[in-house]
Amino acid sequence: MATEPLLVSELFYSIQGESTRAGLPCLFVRLAGCNLRCAYCDASYTWDETGKPMNVADIVAWTDQQPGVLVEITGGEPLRQAGVYPLMQTLLDACRSVLLETNGSLPLCGVPDAVGIIVDLKCPDSGMAGHNLADNLAFLRERKRRGCFDEIKFVLSSLDDYHWAREVVERHRLDRVLPVLFSPVRERLDPATLAQLLLEHRLNVRLQLQLHTLLWPGQSRGV
Ligand code: SF4
Repeated sequence: MATEPLLVSELFYSIQGESTRAGLPCLFVRLAGCNLRCAYCDASYTWDETGKPMNVADIVAWTDQQPGVLVEITGGEPLRQAGVYPLMQTLLDACRSVLLETNGSLPLCGVPDAVGIIVDLKCPDSGMAGHNLADNLAFLRERKRRGCFDEIKFVLSSLDDYHWAREVVERHRLDRVLPVLFSPVRERLDPATLAQLLLEHRLNVRLQLQLHTLLWPGQSRGV
């Protein structure tokens, strides 16, 4: 069945700045629109934009003209658009490695097993923690049993966020299930302080600095 065109914010080729794939060249498909309003959002231009309508074939044709194998679908919140499912499958069929970054407020069922899901679990200082879908953690466990390569990211704005995230990781033993990343918000939480805390508390999580913000400071689109 044909789906509505996807509403695309931007398509670009850059260096993956986050996740365990940081540093790899990557094609980004950023979809328009988000259902959340995080306090630190660096893609707020996606919130209310209309986006350029493109069907799956248009987007895949763009990727076909680009180098590299890794494609990340992000937003905004990509799972708001029904066309994202055939897009993921078509990219997989074209032998791309596909990542999906999602804010964790929507169900993950329907995402193909071969797609690596990066769930951005919302911490209290984002103002959006009430939107975390609790069932998603159980679903990620199930996917791990099926051999999926997902990961979970906590974006930390403060020490309070750190202690909250630590408690969530320890309570659910998340680090046994999948890679866990702690990412400090620039100018809100000092990365060296966070590093010290991770060592002190012996947390098995990865400290993530946003590589693209170091490479291209002040630039939000296209990186
Ligand atoms: S979910 Fe992502 S795009 Fe949406 S408001 Fe939060 S940080 Fe911004």
